[in-house]
Amino acid sequence: MMMLDERANLKNYEEALQTMDWQNVERQFTWSKTGNVNIVYEAIDRHVVEGRGDRVALHYTDGSREESYTFTEMMQLSSRFANGLRSLGVQKGDRVFLFMPRSPELYIALIGILRMGAIAGPLFEAFMEEAVKDRLEDSGATVVVTTAALVSRIRSRELPQLQHVILADAVEKNEANQILYRELMTTSDAYTIEWVDREDGMILNYTSGSTGKPKGVLHVHDAMIHQKLAGQWVYDLQEGDIYWCTADPGWITGTSGGVLSPWLNGVTVVVRGGRFDANEWYATLEKYGVTVWFSAPTAFRLLMAKGERQPLQTYNLSKLRHVLSAGEPLNPEVIRWGMETLQVRIHDNWWMTETGSSICANFRCNPLRPGSMGKPLPGITLAIVDDEGNELPPNRLGNLAIKPKWPAMVRAIWNQPQKYEKYFLNGWFVTGDSAYKDADGYFWFEARVDDVINTSGERVGPFEVESKLVEHPAVAEAGVIGVPDPLRGEVIKAFISLRAGYEESDALKEEIKQFVKTRLAAHAAPRLIEVRQTLPKTNSGKIMRRVLKAWELGLPTGDLSTMEE
Ligand code: ATP
Ligand code: MG
Repeated sequence: MMMLDERANLKNYEEALQTMDWQNVERQFTWSKTGNVNIVYEAIDRHVVEGRGDRVALHYTDGSREESYTFTEMMQLSSRFANGLRSLGVQKGDRVFLFMPRSPELYIALIGILRMGAIAGPLFEAFMEEAVKDRLEDSGATVVVTTAALVSRIRSRELPQLQHVILADAVEKNEANQILYRELMTTSDAYTIEWVDREDGMILNYTSGSTGKPKGVLHVHDAMIHQKLAGQWVYDLQEGDIYWCTADPGWITGTSGGVLSPWLNGVTVVVRGGRFDANEWYATLEKYGVTVWFSAPTAFRLLMAKGERQPLQTYNLSKLRHVLSAGEPLNPEVIRWGMETLQVRIHDNWWMTETGSSICANFRCNPLRPGSMGKPLPGITLAIVDDEGNELPPNRLGNLAIKPKWPAMVRAIWNQPQKYEKYFLNGWFVTGDSAYKDADGYFWFEARVDDVINTSGERVGPFEVESKLVEHPAVAEAGVIGVPDPLRGEVIKAFISLRAGYEESDALKEEIKQFVKTRLAAHAAPRLIEVRQTLPKTNSGKIMRRVLKAWELGLPTGDLSTMEE
């Protein structure tokens, strides 16, 4: 009955480095014996076959709906959806997009799409017409699943490839190309699965657009090998865990880390619909007895700024065992807050859409260094290289780079082979992030290469300054950029939002400047501070420094499709 045994978790990092072999992970999959490959079989069906079908796969809650689905139910419902897609003429390799808020239907459809060998394209619900059109057009999607509230944002007439629009929640249709989910689900209830090649397309993820126009990142079924191991070693999943990852499936974290890693390990997933709300979030942790919780720095900072001061007095979070963060650098202040307020260590881990799963992490079995993104997942070769692709020694800043290929690595940038080639340099996959490795092998994120500030000949990473700024009691969030300056090359400008109870004043700004000056460094202190109600952020919660910079310099802001309203 058990899926995970004691050996699954990482106990000794150094030992794992010596013994790690991806082929041992491959042996955990049924296809290593049967030759029949599909991630859905490993994530859902095998649990039914092996006697775990009654276990809850998904607890869904959003205030108005509250439902739970077992692995058996997920298998049956996603089979129905797959049969429905087939009846529409969808074939292996076709792109089927999901443009809808989180709901059980979203996950049933996602699994149904993969089950029949099609490629799923999850899109965040906040996208407006232009952004939806760009992505559907670029991918050549033939079907999109959406809701009654969002369907008007899909310009079907301008998308000749798009044949069908499935309405997940509607009871009537208004256009000839529309299909009701509830009708589609009556096509056939027969069990079905399409066997695929390990290198066949699985999910097409568009990136967050922090640095420019989002790219279509193609992942293949082989990614399951990496995703399963990340579940065991990075998320520390154990038998009986209740796992909640707050990321939306529109982003890689929400699919790969949100459902695939846990389901591949037979672990129950919690999904909460709706927007961020500090008290609702604590209540969700308590209600389901969440044991492993994965969120992002922006959410932790919001909890810090807005939430209960002493949540443990109001909510019973005693089940919480392991907490993770990814997507942006995790400020040491947030880790301290976690230890004091929630009595948990928040473990930062680093990855990007292109890596398909976690690459570098603060592992539970290793000492945690606040501000560091930890050490590479055993099996991954991570290094710092110069602009020619030569490896640099410890403590030198350079390009964070990964040795290809790892199982979850991006296999193509959709429609843009030239862009794909650009990632590779002298045998390395270059990430676009700048970092260094300390003498003990911990990696420290500095900045995205494009965001590094050069002031009076000194190199300053915005993250370090932002982290110091949020330590000041008045500062809720901070975004830091370099502004051209004839004398210094660049000077540092900070955009900040204030915590409740603080008023903007020259005295406060001066105090904040001094705070950074005395606690970080004079050259790294912002010369300019601008207070704003909110900072421009992507829907996935990342501060968009390129937008701050464009505003500041009066330049075009570029693609804003992923910017939060
Ligand atoms: P785009 O590629 O479209 O500009 P994006 O890079 O923000 O957008 P993602 O793939 O979602 O899109 O994000 C990956 C990036 O997020 C990384 O390159 C890195 O800059 C940042 N990131 C992710 N996790 C961490 C982390 N733990 N610490 C620091 N930075 C992180
Ligand atoms: Mg990127």
